[in-house]
Amino acid sequence: MTATIALLGQPVAHSISPRFQQVALDTLGLDARYEPWETPPSGLPAAVERLRSADLMGANVTVPHKVAVLRLVDRPDPLAELVGAVNTIVRRDGLLHATNTDVSGVLRALADAGIGVAGSHVLLIGAGGAARAVVVAMRRGGAAALTIANRTPQHAEALVALGGQQLVVATTPLDLASEALRTAMEKADLVIHSTPLGMRHGPDEQATPLPAELFRAGQSVLDMVYVPERTPLLEAANRAGARTVGGLAMLVHQGAESFRLWTGHEPPLDMMFEAARAALRDAGQGSAPP
Ligand code: NAP
Repeated sequence: MTATIALLGQPVAHSISPRFQQVALDTLGLDARYEPWETPPSGLPAAVERLRSADLMGANVTVPHKVAVLRLVDRPDPLAELVGAVNTIVRRDGLLHATNTDVSGVLRALADAGIGVAGSHVLLIGAGGAARAVVVAMRRGGAAALTIANRTPQHAEALVALGGQQLVVATTPLDLASEALRTAMEKADLVIHSTPLGMRHGPDEQATPLPAELFRAGQSVLDMVYVPERTPLLEAANRAGARTVGGLAMLVHQGAESFRLWTGHEPPLDMMFEAARAALRDAGQGSAPP
């Protein structure tokens, strides 16, 4: 019997996860299909019930269900509870176990690029679902201090408690006139962007939340946006001499960790990266791989 791994979200038709996950399954000779399931919010409980079938190995969960699905699974792990969001479900012993691999995805993408988090001053732009995973990742990685800059300041305030005892978290409006934002930018060893600005088909494809003159050599910048692979923000940071990492690295690493959990096998990372870049190129959305 061919097993299934589902991707629950809306919209999922253009997701590139099926491309690189299927390559990973095929490369290891596993008899399984990774299937996008277009799931409106009203259909989420039924989709989660379908995951209980014997042929289902588990699922990825994406926008807009990462928070809502937490209460529909049997065993969310402490990390999923802490982040308040789930992106991976594993069916084991008849139960739906859930976790959040975005946290390790951020840390691995940074580590791959030789960027350490321990002791760093971090500026996080955005305070949505992805930002929640970033705050927990910075706490786990031992960052010294984190400032969250967001368009709606109350949304940033709501994330402060995620820093726990270990990580000091401050907030500022995402407004270039804000003194707090400029100071945080000057101090930042690492800047992480988690809004859709600069994303193809997003609210503003050409926009960068921070201009090039605010970046400097010695800084590192992770843009979670991965379409296009080189975003306006990464270009601006590059021009200033900062070290940059695109969102594709995080996407593939969170997927690779999910793959480990579903299959118990070490994922073929190089093949997954190659397939992810090919998927972006096929969609006319990416740049050529280096
Ligand atoms: P979300 O929950 O909808 O949060 C969106 C965030 O962006 C909020 O902070 C929102 O600010 C801000 N925002 C939206 N439009 C804006 C605009 N026009 N100007 C300024 N700020 C704006 O989304 P999410 O799930 O956190 O995802 C955010 C981004 O990360 C997306 O581009 C997504 O593709 C990317 N992402 C990448 C990965 C990866 O693996 N690489 C994983 C997850 C997400 P307000 O609070 O003011 O509304």
